[in-house]
Amino acid sequence: MKLSAEDLRQLVMRIFLENGCSETTARALTHTVMTAEVAGTLSHGVFRMPGYVSSLRAGWVDGKAEPIVEDRAPGVVTVDGANGFSQVAQEAGRDLVMDKARHCGIAALSIRNAHHYAALWPDLEPFGEAGLAGLAFVNSLSLMAPWGGTRALLGTNPMGFVWPRAGKPPLLWDQASSVMAHGEVLMHARDGKSLPPGVGYDAEGRETTDPAGIRDGGALASFGKHKGTSIALMVELLAAGLGGGLFGFEDQSRKLPPPKTCSAGMTIIVIDPARFGDGVIERAEDMFAEYATNEGARLPGERRHGNRDRSAAQGLEVADAQYEKLMELLPAG
Ligand code: NDP
Repeated sequence: MKLSAEDLRQLVMRIFLENGCSETTARALTHTVMTAEVAGTLSHGVFRMPGYVSSLRAGWVDGKAEPIVEDRAPGVVTVDGANGFSQVAQEAGRDLVMDKARHCGIAALSIRNAHHYAALWPDLEPFGEAGLAGLAFVNSLSLMAPWGGTRALLGTNPMGFVWPRAGKPPLLWDQASSVMAHGEVLMHARDGKSLPPGVGYDAEGRETTDPAGIRDGGALASFGKHKGTSIALMVELLAAGLGGGLFGFEDQSRKLPPPKTCSAGMTIIVIDPARFGDGVIERAEDMFAEYATNEGARLPGERRHGNRDRSAAQGLEVADAQYEKLMELLPAG
């Protein structure tokens, strides 16, 4: 069925509110889900709604959490998410870390005791729109084997980057450290599709193209062989190590009945290019102009911007079964 982005947004917001979220949490989660959905990052869109709701109904995550912002140093902000969702903790610390980045040239925000880091795109975009550059690092529960091993140890640890542009939307990319994001594997399993070779291992450590083999006790492989593993290791240390969130190996949520979201960590490093000299942003445009002459290449983020424009103009296609599942998330009566 076809729905306008606004109708779907209202339904998502209603589901969060009617399942015990405060207005602040419902707004933050709706923003994340809808930004992913309209941009075509479907592994973090409405597909995740049953997981959010189940975590709320089980009392595993506090939908009314009030994060505690800690001003640690001239360039450091930490936030205790108070067992709420990470998006609310980020919002709580965002203005302070932006002020610090403008003052010092660079500042960092780290979050702990918060759940369900999703796509990093919605998290980074506000910094780029405010004229700041940023790097975001998130670890997750153990889902990925280090290169050479076959047992899950590291998270699928995504990182993202935003760069402000003169008169244009910011350049933005975000990506998993694994060959494939775990959500994609779950969607393949849901749709009965097999995976391409090289995505991961089953619980016995054998390479598999069966998504259920990876989902049920197996492990994903890192992208680029050992190179992705090194990046995932760095992400684990910056995300959980700096901020005090759980390392993937410490998080036991995978052993609990699903969907128990993990309580990992996140660090965002924010940079004010204006503090590094005059004309930094303008000069970068020369590089983008050169990039555009390279036939066949495109900038990361262009697909998502295209999807976003299309969704706004034409609405969103939501499968009937998906829509029914969403309606079932509204408490009866
Ligand atoms: P993708 O592989 O789909 O995309 C990664 C990045 O590469 C995007 O910025 C994408 O831009 C860009 N890109 C893709 N193709 C090209 C191309 N041909 N030329 C230039 N750029 C390109 O992402 P992943 O599957 O790795 O991750 C999906 C989402 O899942 C991400 O949002 C990630 O943050 C999230 N994630 C979250 C985790 C968590 O624990 N919270 C764990 C792992 C992933 P474009 O979109 O424009 O194609």
